[in-house]
Amino acid sequence: MTRYNISLIRGDGIGPEQAEAAKKILETISDKSSSTKFTISEVDAGDSALAKQGKALPESSVDTIKKSQACLKGPVGESAADVIIVLRRMFDLYANVRPAKSYPNIPSLSDKVDLVTVRENTEDVYLGWEFNADENTVVALRVTSERASRRIAEYAFKTATLRNSKRRVVAVHKANVLRKGDGLFAATCREVAKKYPKIQYSELYVDACSMNLIRNPEEFDVIVTTNLFGDILSDEAAQVVGGLGMGPAANIGDSFALFEPVHGAAFDIAGKNAANPSSILLSAKMMLEWLGDRHGDKDVIMEGKRIEDSIVGALKKGSKTKDIGGRLSTTEFTELVAKSMY
Ligand code: ATP
Ligand code: MG
Repeated sequence: MTRYNISLIRGDGIGPEQAEAAKKILETISDKSSSTKFTISEVDAGDSALAKQGKALPESSVDTIKKSQACLKGPVGESAADVIIVLRRMFDLYANVRPAKSYPNIPSLSDKVDLVTVRENTEDVYLGWEFNADENTVVALRVTSERASRRIAEYAFKTATLRNSKRRVVAVHKANVLRKGDGLFAATCREVAKKYPKIQYSELYVDACSMNLIRNPEEFDVIVTTNLFGDILSDEAAQVVGGLGMGPAANIGDSFALFEPVHGAAFDIAGKNAANPSSILLSAKMMLEWLGDRHGDKDVIMEGKRIEDSIVGALKKGSKTKDIGGRLSTTEFTELVAKSMY
């Protein structure tokens, strides 16, 4: 039997409702599985923590997260950057991984999409280095290093190998314009590709990629790209398969990882028991996969697969939340998923 310590950030808006859903599913696994148990530590972070404790990411929360083996996070509101950017830096979570997959009974551009965007998470324009060249001109610095390009490329090829699906990696860049920066990124990806002869490697300019994501989304397997392009392309990919409510994401480092829905706090539907919990439940599935790979534990990976299978089973029967054309509330959908897992 293996017990995992999970920190759970409740977040804002629909965050607490989604966190409750995730807790319910992880507790169901703890109850029913003989091999996998979870200890869940709930953590305050975000707007609510800022209001109560004067800090979006209080020290006590950081301590609890540091003691855990992985973190699952509900979306955070206004103070999102003060939470996620700090955590990404603190744990060097360099890979932002966002799968986009067609699920049954959800309107999608194609019913055969199964791709993942692997986005470099530490540099590019996100360092926030903007300067005034003169009163009317701003210069923004875009940072690209060989080290960061190499480790994200390595991560992408490992992902393609583990997924064992189409075995393709496409590096997306704009090296025809950003000759030095994206030139370095592309050259590094090309070099890493040589170590993985079983994976088909290609490159696309970001404009061509955004077009192909609409035209032939089912052709993609793993997309590896720089930070800003990855931000945009992964939102596009989420929409190609029917919207934000089904979109999980992972922020991965060498020794820690944080999992969260791709969407924001969705204040318009907060507190109404109307949120689709799938995005956080599929994030939990990714977390169990990561824990399994890391600890050589096949059982926890199987438990993660149960979560997704159970969601797919519900969708096939037409049991859906409102955002994807159904009538179920957050808690009704979660109960259904929990009940049909075992
Ligand atoms: P942020 O600035 O934090 O990214 P945003 O304004 O982009 O927030 P999101 O919260 O990301 O908005 O989501 C956009 C809209 O999509 C929401 O207002 C909500 O109506 C819908 N939405 C997002 N997530 C879900 C979900 N899990 N279930 C149902 N609807 C959702
Ligand atoms: Mg948004």
